[in-house]
Amino acid sequence: MNTCPKCHKEFTLFTYEGIDLSRCSDCKGFWFKDGQFSATKQIGFSGLTDDSAAETAAEPPAEAPPPDEQEILCPDCSEPLVTFMYAYSSDIPLQRCTGCRGIWAYSADLLRIDALLSSYKESLDDIRMQALPLMLKVKNKMKEEERIKKEAKKEAKKSRSFFGRMVGQKQDRSKNRNLNDILEDFEKE
Ligand SMILES: [Zn+2]
Ligand SMILES: [Zn+2]
Repeated sequence: MNTCPKCHKEFTLFTYEGIDLSRCSDCKGFWFKDGQFSATKQIGFSGLTDDSAAETAAEPPAEAPPPDEQEILCPDCSEPLVTFMYAYSSDIPLQRCTGCRGIWAYSADLLRIDALLSSYKESLDDIRMQALPLMLKVKNKMKEEERIKKEAKKEAKKSRSFFGRMVGQKQDRSKNRNLNDILEDFEKE
């Protein structure tokens, strides 16, 4: 049986929403095989840590186990685990196996991810709600601009033809004048 990479205690095996997971009851770390982490994230980590929820809630996040100084090894393939920050920019450390890509995470950190995700979702909803009237405004504005552009085009066409008529009339007049002049000249002779 696999043991906790941190305290080398035997894992407690359990099934969470159909996902077979390993947990260390000592350090409250969870071991996710490749793919299990995101599958569990979809469901939410809070149910996972229910039995220790009271303890975890009492613990401020700062009391989460500090990042390990010494190398810890994958419980499955014994490759070293590498610490990385969840979602790159969060301050929630997770450890991933360089070999099988399994993920090692502590209960408190999982709860922080849950909180982060729900606040992220909320802010996304907020943005969507805020953006909706703005998007309608933009859409209307684009429609209005399109209408103005069309109108201007029509106007330009109209004025072009008006100008054309003017020029044409002028030309006609000058043509007539020329003709009159010619007639006048003709009559003079
Ligand atoms: Zn442990
Ligand atoms: Zn591994």
